[in-house]
Amino acid sequence: MKELLMPETEWREQAACLPYPAILFFGMDDNEGAAERHAREEEAKEICTHCVVRAECLDYALATREAYGIWGGLTELERKARLQGRAS
Ligand code: SF4
Repeated sequence: MKELLMPETEWREQAACLPYPAILFFGMDDNEGAAERHAREEEAKEICTHCVVRAECLDYALATREAYGIWGGLTELERKARLQGRAS
């Protein structure tokens, strides 16, 4: 019942990524190479592994079909695969 009373975004206040620049989680560099992207995503995912709201973050990203960035420790492609796995 408590979850129903909490604003949907309250979990964000406890996000481990708050002190980090958004570019670490979203890229936003058209010239980013595959190796650079992989390294950046792994760095972001490492932060997610220590995040106390990881489950809430991932649930939100899956529910809203977030198309870009690392959410809940997963890339957009990993979230897409997760959603496709649920549908089948
Ligand atoms: S799981 Fe990752 S992206 Fe989500 S709030 Fe936590 S640190 Fe940020």
